[in-house]
Amino acid sequence: MLKILAVIFVATLTVFAQVPEREMDRINWMEFKEVVPSKVDTVLLPTGTLEPHGVINNGADNTAPTAMAKAIAGKTNAMIAPTLNYGITGSLEGYPGVFRISEKAYRPFVRDILEGLAKNGFKNIIILNGHGGGQTAVLQSVASEVAIEKGVRTLVVNWWSFASDVTKEVFGEDGGHAGWNETAYVQATDPSLVKKERYTGKDMTTANPTGWTATPFPSSISLYKEGEGYPKFDQTKADEYFRKVNEKIANLIIEVREKWEKIDG
Ligand SMILES: [Zn+2]
Repeated sequence: MLKILAVIFVATLTVFAQVPEREMDRINWMEFKEVVPSKVDTVLLPTGTLEPHGVINNGADNTAPTAMAKAIAGKTNAMIAPTLNYGITGSLEGYPGVFRISEKAYRPFVRDILEGLAKNGFKNIIILNGHGGGQTAVLQSVASEVAIEKGVRTLVVNWWSFASDVTKEVFGEDGGHAGWNETAYVQATDPSLVKKERYTGKDMTTANPTGWTATPFPSSISLYKEGEGYPKFDQTKADEYFRKVNEKIANLIIEVREKWEKIDG
């Protein structure tokens, strides 16, 4: 048993030792050629946007999936594509510092990026999406089209939604856009992005509406459930949340990839 474990350990070490750099922004072309696809055929593409998030940074939807990619790239044996940090901002467009890319421009740009990843040898393209609204549907449809047309596999993960059970487990309640969950994830990544002295309480939040819509939405903190998900800035819980969300997402990628392998070897 010990011998088997030792062999597995050495084999794992060999695979990972030969990947000098996982960020595509930082690796050079010679190293890339040595690594992709022979040692690494999976890539993580973080996608987000710039929009207000209560008392955390406008780029929180970029900060979160970028940190996630860095945290799980080793465990999932993946490269990390540069973050696509402009996106389709929806009802929060009216706030300061916000950008909105039209679907007309976003869709073909994302398609070219996914096709470029396929062309560069990646078989498994994982989009770690940090921003919801209309962006999710566009990413899902483009990813599906590219998978079929280019013979690659694509997975789109909306982390806050997929990890909603972790939100309930760690905080004992539901979260929200820029709620306790998202604020905590960013706090675990970089506490200096959280300006808790600016948080004035419930007046900065609005629960997700039924029966009405408003543009701009009256609060940049929008709670999934009335009375739940107010940011509480607990660093210990933030660190626990970060770890558990990342673990759940890494496990999803590993599980889906194993099942993909069984489809076409
Ligand atoms: Zn967000």
